[in-house]
Amino acid sequence: MAAEINKVVILGSGPAGLTAALYTARANLSPLLIEGNEPGGQLTITTEVENYPGFEHGIQGPEMMDVFRRQVLRFGTRLLAGEVTEARLGKWPFELVAEGEVIKAESLIIATGASAKLLGIDSEKRLMGYGVSACATCDGAFFKDKEAVVVGGGDTAMEEATFLTRFVTKATVVHRRDALRASKIMQDRARKNPKIEFIWDSAIGEIFGDQKNGVNGVRLTNVKSGANRDFKTDAVFVAIGHQPNTALFKGQLEMDEIGYLRVRPGSTYTNIEGVFAAGDVADSIYRQAVTAAGTGCMAAIDAERWLESRDAG
Ligand code: NAP
Repeated sequence: MAAEINKVVILGSGPAGLTAALYTARANLSPLLIEGNEPGGQLTITTEVENYPGFEHGIQGPEMMDVFRRQVLRFGTRLLAGEVTEARLGKWPFELVAEGEVIKAESLIIATGASAKLLGIDSEKRLMGYGVSACATCDGAFFKDKEAVVVGGGDTAMEEATFLTRFVTKATVVHRRDALRASKIMQDRARKNPKIEFIWDSAIGEIFGDQKNGVNGVRLTNVKSGANRDFKTDAVFVAIGHQPNTALFKGQLEMDEIGYLRVRPGSTYTNIEGVFAAGDVADSIYRQAVTAAGTGCMAAIDAERWLESRDAG
């Protein structure tokens, strides 16, 4: 694998990477897909997925990614377990270092995703998918007529809290300061919503509940006074931002100020010829499995046509 030059190498095994693999495999390009450190991507930390078209009755996130994976294997995608630790995009064929090997690629599709930032407490990890979520669009509907806590003070937190009020009886925003970072328009919308309440200057130290019955409360600490109190809730939505997984490409690919890759509008072309980006790594707005799959398909077609035009020229 190391010595040969791959026509297409795909980084990432979420919906974007696996869809790019499906299309490039079916175009006879024999893609090599490097799975990364979270095989299957963010959907493997959710439970039920009800908004992916084609699954009438919903499907568990990990199971869905397993279906995606089996589908790409059927068409001859080569999967490599492991992580890329270095990307050399200044030379062509491109070189990637993964698992101590140098892998060469004529074209590269980056689908390394973004990770929701998390609080980093044990109970958050244990209850992720069981009442703790980092995506209201994905999981809000499970909390109809329940109460939810949303952590954060930025636009994402305001958007998540506002969205949740379609389902919940009350959404309580817990923020670590007494001023929001969110844009005025998003703040105003949230503040005017009668179902949204705010708890200021507070951090969540623990989330109570179990995997059988879900979440039933949180321990709040007032960061100014140090006082603790328990607060009843059925769900915790962590909305403290996302971090695109682009550290490998700093100084090589154009990114926005947060680190999302910039692509030519309406395409998956990055600033380097032959390097394409798909899914959440280049999308700070939609961040859905179905949009990731869609741009994965676009990246495969862009790469295929780019290779073809190169071979022809
Ligand atoms: P953000 O602006 O970085 O805000 C993150 C929020 O989470 C901040 O209020 C921050 O508190 C808090 N936070 C960070 N780490 C924390 C921790 N460990 N514990 C508790 N709280 C923590 O992120 P974002 O809201 O995801 O927005 C990112 C970008 O996307 C922004 O440019 C935003 O405008 C944009 N966006 C736009 C829309 C829209 O227009 N529809 C929607 C979503 C996002 P501090 O304030 O104390 O730092």
